[in-house]
Amino acid sequence: MKRKMLNLVIEKATWMDDYIFACQQGCTSCCTQSVTMTTLEGEGIYAYLEETGRDCGQIIERMLAQRQDMNSPQVTTNQFAQFCLEGREVDISVNNGASWNFSPCQFLENGDCSIYPVRPFACRALVSQKVCAQGGAAEMAPVVVTLNTIWLQIIEHVDQGGFWGNMLDVLAFLQNTHSGRTAEPLAGKTTRLLKNLPVPGFLLPQEERAVTSRALAGLFQTTIEGQPFSWLFKGVGIII
Ligand code: SF4
Repeated sequence: MKRKMLNLVIEKATWMDDYIFACQQGCTSCCTQSVTMTTLEGEGIYAYLEETGRDCGQIIERMLAQRQDMNSPQVTTNQFAQFCLEGREVDISVNNGASWNFSPCQFLENGDCSIYPVRPFACRALVSQKVCAQGGAAEMAPVVVTLNTIWLQIIEHVDQGGFWGNMLDVLAFLQNTHSGRTAEPLAGKTTRLLKNLPVPGFLLPQEERAVTSRALAGLFQTTIEGQPFSWLFKGVGIII
């Protein structure tokens, strides 16, 4: 059921079609080791690796061995939103900087993403209206950043009971659980993963309300297994 919901959320990210992006096959400037995702997305990657005849255990062990040392992110997307909604100071260096590793993503093969059909939403969200390879950061309209953040929040919400963290840490955790090994303890500071949290609300700038409300309505009004998707958010104080 969660997998179906994830697919629906990805399918409904239709605003991407309203913009012309410079992103093209072979441009991999944004493909770094700093991708974060939920365990739900990780399960999809894990299954895809198996379906395509690849040895997940071997791949993940090799990636871990080759990975440069890096800290893990400390705040999930929904936790970050919670802090902002409460007007609390958020030290973004806890996620930006110390935990970022700009080495190429280990899923790149000959300049292409080797898990493209199941890549995390964070990868889908990182688009640019200018060619990043020419230098500098990606550029996108502020409303696209807002919508992508909302969608990341929703995916975290859908995967409550699951975890969030760096892509490779999530896959290593799944590899442990799939192989029956004791996974890293999942509490406090001993873990590299964080618990997924429910949506505390969305940060919607006034001037973007029309577009964001339309996108959210398109998702929430969709029925999944007889229930409107909005049912999942019953009781959540969402400002639309
Ligand atoms: S998973 Fe694929 S799209 Fe995402 S960073 Fe890695 S190579 Fe790029």
